[in-house]
Amino acid sequence: MILPIYIYGQPVLRKVAEDITADYPGLTQLIADMYDTLDKTGGIGLAAPQIGKAIRLVVINLKELAEDYPEYADYKQTFINAHILEYGEEKSSSDEGCLSLPGLSEKVVRPSKIHVQYLDEEMLPHDEWVDGYLATVMQHEFDHLEGKLYIDHISALRKQLIKKKLQGMLRGNFSCRYKFKAAK
Ligand code: ZN
Repeated sequence: MILPIYIYGQPVLRKVAEDITADYPGLTQLIADMYDTLDKTGGIGLAAPQIGKAIRLVVINLKELAEDYPEYADYKQTFINAHILEYGEEKSSSDEGCLSLPGLSEKVVRPSKIHVQYLDEEMLPHDEWVDGYLATVMQHEFDHLEGKLYIDHISALRKQLIKKKLQGMLRGNFSCRYKFKAAK
């Protein structure tokens, strides 16, 4: 089932999401729906707050990037109770966009390497260091679990420049081709 994407201004996008347990109602179906939604929107990552649930659940599917990053062509992973424990010192920057901020994209500087903990779909624990473009995608998605958006990381000047667009979004003044729930 394709789920509507919650758009900038929806309060759930600013909540700190909660850990869940294996018996969370409908978890398997929810994960399947999130992958369907990601497929339909052409996104590469989706965090549960973006579909209106303040729980620590993220799905990432990098097949859209296969041309630029062949090493990620088959990368598809579910992250439950995801947490970032440490950041590396080195930084790198990439252009980021977000399904919850349609029509925007900004250059964001983030640490190149992160130490993460999460459970996979089988509820098996993972504890690993991740780098490269995947580390950027994971930071973007895991930020959603802290109630953060990529625009929180851009300069005051850039933020000023996109202010009108953000305000428009709050008033429902934007277009996107997928199902959504706007703030208004
Ligand atoms: Zn996002």
